[in-house]
Amino acid sequence: MLRSTGVRRPPPEHGRPLGELLATVDRAASKGINVASGGLLAYVPSSGLVTSAVADLIAGVLSRFTGQAVPAPGLVAMESSVLRWIADLFYLPPEAMGVFTTGGSTATLSALITARVAKLRGSSVSGIIYVTEQTHGCVVKAALLAGFRRDNLRVVPVDEHLRMDVTALRSAISADQRRGMRPFFVAASAGTTNAGTIDPIRDLADVAATQDLWLHVDAAYGGFFQLTGRGRERMSGIELADSIVLDPHKSLFVAMGTGCLLVRDSELLRQAHAADAAPYLQDLRGSDLPDFADYSIDLTRDFRGLRVWLPLHLHGVSAFRVALEEKLDLAEQVYAVLVAQPQLAVHSPPVLSTVVFRMAGDDAAVDERTAVLLAAVNAEGRVHLSSTRIDGRMMIRMCILHHRVDAARIEEAVAAILRHSSPAVRPVGVSGRLQAPAR
Ligand SMILES: *Cc1c(COP(=O)(O)O)cnc(C)c1O
Repeated sequence: MLRSTGVRRPPPEHGRPLGELLATVDRAASKGINVASGGLLAYVPSSGLVTSAVADLIAGVLSRFTGQAVPAPGLVAMESSVLRWIADLFYLPPEAMGVFTTGGSTATLSALITARVAKLRGSSVSGIIYVTEQTHGCVVKAALLAGFRRDNLRVVPVDEHLRMDVTALRSAISADQRRGMRPFFVAASAGTTNAGTIDPIRDLADVAATQDLWLHVDAAYGGFFQLTGRGRERMSGIELADSIVLDPHKSLFVAMGTGCLLVRDSELLRQAHAADAAPYLQDLRGSDLPDFADYSIDLTRDFRGLRVWLPLHLHGVSAFRVALEEKLDLAEQVYAVLVAQPQLAVHSPPVLSTVVFRMAGDDAAVDERTAVLLAAVNAEGRVHLSSTRIDGRMMIRMCILHHRVDAARIEEAVAAILRHSSPAVRPVGVSGRLQAPAR
């Protein structure tokens, strides 16, 4: 019960001892899902690298204004340099620009508004946005926030691998053009939240180029797999995007509150976000460095670049590459074990680090059996999985992205899945044994 723990107490007139307050924080944090645990295999984990929290502490104590460059040129240069490094990772041209946002959702809003400036001269009335049923909800949310209506949205069918059907997209665009609408935005996913699948980005880029659409890639989950050979190969074509959304607080493991937007043409990003020159800020103009306030929603903001800069410089890029390679290896190994179990139906081989499965069978009770399996595995308290629906069926998702997850924990997860899904008790370590990642 939270009632008796001091969590809801109003602030006292005179302060209380820190130890007492920390105990309250501790009690409050003990409720719910412990996202900082390596056992978190649900949703898309955001694991909270401690070194990024150290960066937060430093940034908070420094408390410098980084919305414009003049008051903190050194810090803005650091943030710009790490953003340039990310843009280079996706082979974007020199005129591209990135900004750190509070998350993927706000980055998506900025991307859509920039596309509207570029393709619709700011008007929302006739613009059509193409998504799939697998597209993250933040795209629809951004569209509604930006003043589009539901009838500005088209849900393009997916193929059996849950990827946007390019032929269906082409016909939807022609149909909309015949109706006098203006198709302008196609949202590709590079790692869907549901299953980690990747749309055929290169083909979508082709359609976007011939039909004058803005190609947006939502890589909030998958983005930093670009550091790995397999990721680069699977997200091939992402370098053609007009905008890319990334979440360093997912696949770069840093503390929550760290999204990123890359835009191929920085001038469009500026046109969409720069307000008229405010006289009260006139003393702060005139740097060669970017004024982030002109390229993003925030004016006053945390120095969030340090949250990415410090871990990357401290641990080195290879630490992140190795960690992401390991996630891909573990997902492949989980798939190999689960697909061999007759009592389970596994959706398809993982494209990234998410394995989606359910109890086998097509009878009316299969969703229920899947829900029972999920509840039983989670009830052990060692790992936490989540569910979704694909093709109308209840599915269990195992998303391997936490920086604290390792082969031993994944082995525990697999053993629990086998234990609770098998009619007969199966000795763990025979079929359920996971090999050490081969590298
Ligand atoms: C998490 C996620 C988002 C939303 O990002 P937030 O940082 O949670 O706002 C968008 N797209 C995908 C694919 C995601 O996994």
